[in-house]
This record gives sequence, structure tokens and C-alpha cells, in this order.
Amino acid sequence: MNTTDKPLHFLEQIIEKDLADGRFSSICTRFPPEPNGFLHVGHAKSICLNFGLAERFNGRCNLRFDDTNPEKEEQVYVDAIKADVRWLGFQWADDVRYASDYFDAFYEWALHLIRAGNAYVCELSAEKASEYRGWATRPGKDSPYRSRTVEENLDLFERMRAGEFDEGASVLRAKIDMTSPNMNMRDPILYRIRKQSHHQTGDKWCIYPSYDFAHGQEDAIEGVTHSICTLEFQDHKPLYDWLIENLPVPCKPRQYEFARLNLSYTVTSKRKLKQLVDQRVVSGWDDPRMPTISGMRRRGYTPSAIRQFCDMIGVTRSDGMVDVAMLEHAIRDDLNENAARAMAVLDPLKVVITNLPEGEVQEVIAAVHPNRPERGQRVLPFTREIFIDRSDFTEDTTLSRKKFKRLVLGEWVRLRNAYVIRADEVVKDESGTITEVRATLVPGTLGEKPSAEIRPRGVIHWVSAIHGRQAELRIYDRLFTHEVPDRGEDDFVTCVNSDSLRVVQAWIELSLTDAVAEQCFQFEREGYFVADRYDYTAQKPVFNLTISLKDTWKK
Ligand code: ATP
Ligand code: MG
Repeated sequence: MNTTDKPLHFLEQIIEKDLADGRFSSICTRFPPEPNGFLHVGHAKSICLNFGLAERFNGRCNLRFDDTNPEKEEQVYVDAIKADVRWLGFQWADDVRYASDYFDAFYEWALHLIRAGNAYVCELSAEKASEYRGWATRPGKDSPYRSRTVEENLDLFERMRAGEFDEGASVLRAKIDMTSPNMNMRDPILYRIRKQSHHQTGDKWCIYPSYDFAHGQEDAIEGVTHSICTLEFQDHKPLYDWLIENLPVPCKPRQYEFARLNLSYTVTSKRKLKQLVDQRVVSGWDDPRMPTISGMRRRGYTPSAIRQFCDMIGVTRSDGMVDVAMLEHAIRDDLNENAARAMAVLDPLKVVITNLPEGEVQEVIAAVHPNRPERGQRVLPFTREIFIDRSDFTEDTTLSRKKFKRLVLGEWVRLRNAYVIRADEVVKDESGTITEVRATLVPGTLGEKPSAEIRPRGVIHWVSAIHGRQAELRIYDRLFTHEVPDRGEDDFVTCVNSDSLRVVQAWIELSLTDAVAEQCFQFEREGYFVADRYDYTAQKPVFNLTISLKDTWKK
């Protein structure tokens, strides 16, 4: 799919018009994560949108940490977020920015509002304040502290900053309208006391601005022209605009809202993802089952697949649910094009080829990628003893050719990239389990069709039992069993799929010990796998299942 062929989405239309009208000569967007967790697939949508718009219209996109709440923020999250954005293939304009870079300016602007009679220090307890706020259908009433004089407010606010009061003892509020139908306009909080060290500013501050007081002002300081956020901020827009109007800001950015990404079988909330990490439901933020960008990366998703997915889902103003099969389709599509082919046997059953002498090694040749000859070839040692998958053999000769296109006792099958063989007899242990299949190869069938009376049922994969290597395969499934795990009836952790990770010891072809971490493969007839980013070594290869071969997404 080519982005440039698609009709412009509503934000592209707005920007195109703004540029045509000369409202701006160039645009500036920003991606503003709070460093209180790792980024998830929903953030990927926002990243692709904001950086994508800047790319498309030759503008700039800032990466700005909205670090106004030190309680939940950490440097590790800052580092992970930067790595994720870069990995997706985007580069922010100039240096990374922090809301905390602007704390001095915010403080001055708070004083500005106080002097203009637009802000006051309020000492209502949280409980009382909430009572005074009223609710959507019932107007609030004025705080008894609302009529303080400018001098009194300046003095108290300065003392809040100096650390004279305890957390929760007072807040700075905007003086707007306690009867406004929009709850956000009912004297919203601008500053809170938080006696917390901050990952960027240390102990310089013990008062911190609220999201609402910080966000628009950050945009204004940075010259952001289009401040794009998700729909839940729609009700904050009047406040965003009120602050911009009432402060001596250097420019006037505008806020636009789009629908957040909701994905089936997935949780997209940092708070809930953190719960999975804290409760050790997963191994960490980058567990391959996590919908985090780093989790998807470890799972074997590629930046181009994630970007393609974000392009496919588009940008709208109506909330909805995207089928996770669509994301899976995007990665499958990418890997089908690009992943090298290899063979791995997950549930090994030994086959002895009785007409091949012991010790003989034939080198058969296979393409790295069937449609891309330029990717070259690989050499597979073919030996008397090989492994095939247990499920690829049966003694049941009554199964129709259509139903079972694999190896049946007394019949033929093609070994992928190698000979046609016939299964002659089986060897069993005391419990009746097949331990070995004895077979003969049909001479002259390497790369050639057998004669007419020999009819292989199909093609199966194999690995040399002598030259193959053992590997750990981590077989992942969806993390949740319910389509909407966080629908709210039960704790979402109750729909965690208890079978979401299965570890198997497999036999892999020798060439796979030359893989590098994060390299993707199609294990033929099995699925797409990636060499684990951290645990893969040539001595102890570990591969993660990225996605199965079968596409379930209906276009
Ligand atoms: P979460 O609810 O997961 O904690 P958040 O919105 O609190 O997410 P932020 O760090 O504030 O996380 O988000 C940074 C940017 O990413 C914001 O502009 C936000 O609107 C956007 N964003 C967050 N979640 C999604 C989503 N599911 N779809 C699209 N954009 C999102
Ligand atoms: Mg947020």
C-alpha cells in the first residue's frame, strides 16, 4: 500500500489548508509521552502520526517528555522511550525536550495568572474540593479561598514553592467558572505540592504543574503548530485555549484530537501493562507477549510492519476496535517478503534412510528465499538419519491423499529441498510409541520428479540428525483469551491466557547457528521465528515464535 495514493486524512487536510492559507510557513508537531512506562502499540500510532506528518509536510517533530509527575516517572522509561522511537525509524528535531526544562517559565506564568486575578491558592481538602466541584449535571460552587487578594496569593504560592506546606495542604487553581458545564473549567488545578525528587530536576522543586497547566504551554514554548492528542482530551481543549489566551506565550498552538488505537485481545494502558510486569505475569516490559514496542521487537515484529499497520488503520475521529489479526497480517506480510527460509523440526521423529550409507553426507542446496534468488543459497547436509516432525507421519493407510498430504507407511513423500522417500517400516518401543521410521530414498529425485507410478503425497521438512543442532523455541500465543480484556467487568488479569508461552526443544538446520540476534526466519511449514534479542547464541540458539503462517484476517 502506498501512502501517497491514499486520500488525505482529516489532519493532513487541515495541515495542507493551513500551509496553503499561509497560516504557517512550516509545521511543528510533537510526541509527548509521560516517562511512566514503556510505549505500547497505541503510542506507535501516535508516533507514526506525529512524526509522519512532519515528514510528509517537511516540518519538525519534537520528542518531549511530559514529566510533570515525578512520583511515577523514571529515567529507565526515558531511555526506553527514546530507543523505541529510534527503532521505529524516526528522529526527533534537535535534542529531546522535557516539560521540566520549562518549570521556571511555568512558575513565572503562574505568578502572571495570580497577578491578573486569574489564579488562587486553595486549601480545600481533596474531598471537599471534589464536593465543591459538583458534577456534570450540577454546577459547582466557589471555594471559600477564591476571593483571596493578589498579595495573599503571591505570598502563599511563594511559600508553597519554598516547601512550607505539606503535600495536599494547598493547590494553585485557575479562577475560571465553577458553574461551567465543562468540569475542566471549574477552577482546575495548576500546581500541586509533591515533595518528591525528580529524575531531571532533582530536588529543585516541591511543587509540580498539572498536565493541563503544562501541556499547552510546552507546545507554545516549542512553537508547536498542531498539537495532536487522543479524543479523551477533547473536553480539555477549552482549558488549553483559555490558558494560551491568558498567558504571555510566544505562539498559539492549536489542539486537534484523533481516535486512540484500541486493539482486540490487547491491553493498551501503561498502568495495566505495569500491573502485568509488577505481578510477574510476564517477564518484563519487553516480554515478547507484551504489546509494548520493545515487546513486539523482541517477538520479531519489524519497524516496517508496525508502520505499515499504522498506515492501514488510518486516522479518524471515531473510536473503534481494530482486529489484532490486522497487526498480525502486517507482520506476516513483511516476513513473507523478507524473512530467510530455514527448517526446524519441533517434535522430532527419527527417519533412517536405509539405502544411504552411514557416514555419507550429501550436500543439498536450498534457496534462502524462494522468490529472491539474489539472497543466495544455503547448503543442507543430507544424511542417513534425519528428523521429521512426528505429526508428519502416520501408519494409518486409510487416510485420503487430500486429508493427509504427508508421509504414510508404505507411501512416498518429498523431503523439502531433497529426495522423495518411501516409508517402509516402523520401530516401536514397549509402550507402542514409534521411535523410528525406516525408509528408502528414490534415487534420481533430487530436484527431479519421480516416475509416474511414484506419487508423493506432499512435501515435508526435515533436519539432519547428525548435523542438525538443538535449539530452544519459545512458542508464544496471544496474552489474553478475551477479545476485550479490559472491558471492566472482571479484573483484566483473569483473562490472561495460561498457555501463552510453551517452550520446546527443537532440531534446527545447522545454518541457523550462524544467525544474529533479532534475525527473522520462516521455519518452513511452522511459522516465523526470530533469534532472541538477548538469549540467542550460536552454542545455545533461542528463537521466539513471531507469528504462525496462517493468516486469519479477512480483508
Ligand atoms: P496510557 O493510557 O497507556 O498511560 P497515556 O496517554 O497516558 O497512555 P502518554 O505517555 O501520555 O500515555 O501518551 C503519549 C501520547 O501517546 C499522547 O499524545 C497520547 O494521546 C498518545 N496515545 C496514548 N495511547 C494511545 C493509543 N492507544 N492510541 C493512540 N495514541 C495514544
Ligand atoms: Mg497520559
